[in-house]
Amino acid sequence: MDSLRRLEEIFAKFPGIGPRQARRFVYYLLNKSPSSIKEFTDLVLEVKKSTTECERCHRFFIGMNGKNIGALCSICSDANRDNSLLMVVARDSDFETVEKSGAYRGFYFILGGTVPILDKEPDKRIRLKSLLERIGEEKRL
Ligand SMILES: [Zn+2]
Repeated sequence: MDSLRRLEEIFAKFPGIGPRQARRFVYYLLNKSPSSIKEFTDLVLEVKKSTTECERCHRFFIGMNGKNIGALCSICSDANRDNSLLMVVARDSDFETVEKSGAYRGFYFILGGTVPILDKEPDKRIRLKSLLERIGEEKRL
């Protein structure tokens, strides 16, 4: 498989992106200058290096001093939030929508996706075990 098709396949694996959109992304990039492509690829690498997953809620955030270190995010370490509330959301993007509204002052748990109703192994799609552990921790507090 040539590199053009490989890149198409990678874009087609993005959430909500089909083969036609993937092909449009590839042609969009082909029309960009080499310096724009380098800026894009460098930024993807930088985001990957500097972003970490919160140990408690599993949301991605930029670590301290731009470093990828295991720690709690700003929300989980905020003592002013309401610790009687825990909202379970499917994805990071859902968290952002709720947080931007400013209407919720509790904590979050990012499940990591959704499960089709007849799925026999939900643990493979979402952080079910981690959620149950988190609920167990909250009960002890
Ligand atoms: Zn967190």
